[in-house]
Amino acid sequence: MNRRQFLPLLAAPLAAAPEDKIRSVEAIPARVPYRSTFVIGRGLVATAGQAGQYVYVRVETAQGRVGWGETIALPGWSYETVDSICSTVRKYLAPIVTGRSPLEQAWFAKQFDEVLTPAISQGFPFAKSAVAIATLDLAGQITGQPLHRLLGGKIRNTVELSFALSIDAPEAMAEAAKFHDTVKCFKLKVSGDPELDARRVRAVVAARPDTQIWLDANQSYRPLRLEAFLEAIKGIPQVRCLEQPVPSVDWLGMKRARSKTSMPIAVDEGCFSSYDVARLARMEACDLVVLKVAKSAGPFGCQKSAAVAEANGLGLLGSGLTEGGIGLAASVHLYSTMDLLLPPELNGPKFLTSLWVEGLDVKTNIVTVPDAPGLGIRVDEKAIRAHRIEGV
Ligand SMILES: [Mg+2]
Repeated sequence: MNRRQFLPLLAAPLAAAPEDKIRSVEAIPARVPYRSTFVIGRGLVATAGQAGQYVYVRVETAQGRVGWGETIALPGWSYETVDSICSTVRKYLAPIVTGRSPLEQAWFAKQFDEVLTPAISQGFPFAKSAVAIATLDLAGQITGQPLHRLLGGKIRNTVELSFALSIDAPEAMAEAAKFHDTVKCFKLKVSGDPELDARRVRAVVAARPDTQIWLDANQSYRPLRLEAFLEAIKGIPQVRCLEQPVPSVDWLGMKRARSKTSMPIAVDEGCFSSYDVARLARMEACDLVVLKVAKSAGPFGCQKSAAVAEANGLGLLGSGLTEGGIGLAASVHLYSTMDLLLPPELNGPKFLTSLWVEGLDVKTNIVTVPDAPGLGIRVDEKAIRAHRIEGV
């Protein structure tokens, strides 16, 4: 091609594709069946053969693209119910994103917090998170990029998972640890009973001395009992940390727990936002911060919490709330971009009968980070609609 032939190409204006805008937002409450019973320190999450309550968010654009978001409703863990999540999405968040480009994520987050203001820390983060995931799925589809690249880009191609051990008799927890023989880190749930919990820890360590143990009390300890538990498990090298020993509101109790042990203390239910991280760091009330996409109103909220934690010398752990395939994919994209102390604990594959997605490569405790645009998965919409909760 000579110069003369090339010029018309240079002169031709770039044909900009019309910007795709959000046309509709649907919140679909659904029951997701559990394959095994899940008990934590605050009580029962779900029973084998029964179902947990979830909300799926389907966002469609004018050009026919469809993005999906998901959140669990677990009011025994945090206050949002399946009813409140659906009404929050339908009445407050859908009007904000409708008619806008899915690429306006910062504006969405600002508007979400103006309409539903975080009183102290977060306001309706689970509902906001479901909409954030769905619109980020669309943002990835529009730009042709996987979600991890919108979050800075993955630093690993697979994400190894920690597995949760539901509260049970010590022997049963040891059996479960033996059964999952490829898993290298267990999140061992404890119940606030120092003697029984210490037996649980020793049984699992005896069964799988090759693994790391991440303890999670889910707020079940009270001060004197906690001191007895810490004393009873002193010097077990596999135990790496203790998560949320005391109630979420008791930050002074977290500080007291730290003063009684050299074991790192992690905060989960007591920390939803970067502002919480800043206050906890100033109080020296924790060593580690547990991230969850849902409690930080989406992946960008988690990144803010992570940045404040790191800048204050606090370590990061990644976790979830027994999400199905959509929430799992969102967490895997995020955690593939981060340095975490232990493998993230995302337990949907362990506890749910089906993840209701295709294209997500999960091999027991190893998930391949999707590279297709958006979440990079295909959602089984039929399964979601077949399990719809009527009347919500
Ligand atoms: Mg936890």
